[in-house]
Amino acid sequence: MNVRKVFLTENEIPRKWYNILADIKMNPPLDSNGKPIKLEDLAPVFPMNLIEQEVSTRRWIDIPEDVLKVLCIWRPSPLVRALSLEKALGTPARIYFKNESVSPPGSHKPNTAVPQAYYNKVFGIKRMTTETGAGQWGSALSFACCQFGIECKVFMVRVSFDQKPYRKSMMEAWGGKCIASPSTETKAGRDALAKNPDTPGSLGIAISEAIEAAVSDKTGKSRYSLGSVLNHVMLHQTIIGLEAKKQLKKIGEYPDIIIGCAGGGSNFAGLAFPFVYDKINGREIDIYPVEPAACPTLTRSPFVYDYGDTAGYTPLLPMYSLGHEFVPPPLHAGGLRYHGMAPTVSQLVIEGMIEPKAVTQLASYEAGVLLARTEGIIPAPETNHALACVVDQARKAKEEGKEKVILFSWSGHGLLDLGAYDRYFSGNLKDYALSEEEILKSEKVFESYPKPKRLKSR
Ligand SMILES: *Cc1c(COP(=O)(O)O)cnc(C)c1O
Repeated sequence: MNVRKVFLTENEIPRKWYNILADIKMNPPLDSNGKPIKLEDLAPVFPMNLIEQEVSTRRWIDIPEDVLKVLCIWRPSPLVRALSLEKALGTPARIYFKNESVSPPGSHKPNTAVPQAYYNKVFGIKRMTTETGAGQWGSALSFACCQFGIECKVFMVRVSFDQKPYRKSMMEAWGGKCIASPSTETKAGRDALAKNPDTPGSLGIAISEAIEAAVSDKTGKSRYSLGSVLNHVMLHQTIIGLEAKKQLKKIGEYPDIIIGCAGGGSNFAGLAFPFVYDKINGREIDIYPVEPAACPTLTRSPFVYDYGDTAGYTPLLPMYSLGHEFVPPPLHAGGLRYHGMAPTVSQLVIEGMIEPKAVTQLASYEAGVLLARTEGIIPAPETNHALACVVDQARKAKEEGKEKVILFSWSGHGLLDLGAYDRYFSGNLKDYALSEEEILKSEKVFESYPKPKRLKSR
């Protein structure tokens, strides 16, 4: 019988994260005057131990014992062979996935929420603030803060707050506090409400509120937290790929193709970066981040310096960006509606180490339903984008008669996204075509900013 799942024991969990900053050259983050930022500038926002990790170029970084203890609630996550999908497609490819949907909040996000809560705790922080769009990140941080006895406050974009009440219930079950954004608790929120009392809110406003709530706490014991994009988030997620490597080795496999959906880039990077390290050292692997065609950051926008948030509170980051004021169409994959992309993922695209793909919403749901009907897990709408690419690659392997080994990231389950599946089944979900004019218009914001250099790491 073919192996269906490969497990690691808790003793075999990786003890170090892989830091890609040891192996690629990066443009520095800049302040709004175009000067490289100083670490102290970030001190009111993030604890210094995480700021140091953000800029570290050490290749391997120890995972603290207390972090491993919490990760072991659900890790090591299973590596699964998608035997039923292979059969349904009649492909000679062998398809494997890391099942990150087994975490308590149901996605890969606690892989970084847990270490972030830990480092804040060690630094003496009592309260963490963050924003959440669809609610995945807010629930992951609430879970992690609960494990370390830290208060958690989540500003959730108003529309999602109203449409997805169960994400808020999850946060409350873990002791987190979730309020709709814009709120009356911050100046940014009050200003937004004064402008438009009926505003549905936006991720940009919610970020501004969360940062303001952290930096305005006079006790100095509050900090802000981000769930994707930043270097330390990518670092924490590499536990996915490091586990996968060990699991594949146990059965004598190595991937030819690696696939992950990409919103801010973290689940993709987590799976792919440990293999990018091998590619840098001579291995041949095709690596595909997959984004929605309606929010085409890597596939249709330029590599620039831009802000990470709408309000422009973050430093200028070197990344592919649609412009920080870009408002994506109302896609049912909230986690993929980000205007930018992790600077590390962006740099790898520039260097040609990885090759971005875009898929439409309907194609993604079609693949998601096929996976639900073969492998059984109902995928998150975000994950569906990776799945569409997996199905394409498996079909291509069939046409070419090649036994490719495909590895992909199953970033989360869709049990709290069934409303979107309802719309798909009733034919009410549509594709959005973004015109070239819309893209050019939204890209005007960074015209006057400094331009990143086209660095080559080797
Ligand atoms: C948040 C989320 C994503 C997108 O974020 P990345 O940082 O690109 O990984 C993808 N899948 C799921 C299930 C998510 O919750």
